[in-house]
Amino acid sequence: MGIGIKTVERPESEASYLRATFKGMSLTFRHLVNPHKVTQQYPEEKWELAPRMRGTHRMAVHEDGRAKCVGCGLCPTVCPANCIKLIPAEDEQGERYAAVFEIDEFRCIFCGFCQEVCPVEAIHLGVHYENAEYSRERFVYDLERLCEQDQPFTQLWDPEDPASE
Ligand code: SF4
Ligand code: SF4
Repeated sequence: MGIGIKTVERPESEASYLRATFKGMSLTFRHLVNPHKVTQQYPEEKWELAPRMRGTHRMAVHEDGRAKCVGCGLCPTVCPANCIKLIPAEDEQGERYAAVFEIDEFRCIFCGFCQEVCPVEAIHLGVHYENAEYSRERFVYDLERLCEQDQPFTQLWDPEDPASE
């Protein structure tokens, strides 16, 4: 299909903006009386979030409260925003764990790669967006804070279930 080009000439006489102003105002008033309003009274009213919404991270924990992360290093390697800090360690039994694990939620682009790549399903994105802070430093979530999160885990896209049903 060809692309149509419409040339709009500049008016030669002085243009009056009254017509455009009335047109704009009539549109505004039409929306004022429109019964299908979409404005929500946040925070009293909130959107129902999609189960695949990707928001604030959450670390899965064992029954005894330990983080499931085994410090494999995959998530900081794949993270395109370079916002995961990991210092792995080993306990007396030779089990690996994350001595330091931090995610900078401010730099994160919520791509979900960390969740996809984790071999033990430890790190997840959560169905959550209310993480505003007053300082830049507060956006860096350490392991303890990540383990405390209790929002539902994000459902990743499943090609077998494209509509997430
Ligand atoms: S969601 Fe993406 S950008 Fe955010 S921490 Fe995970 S891998 Fe990095
Ligand atoms: S969260 Fe998962 S992918 Fe990241 S270091 Fe820990 S075990 Fe590895």
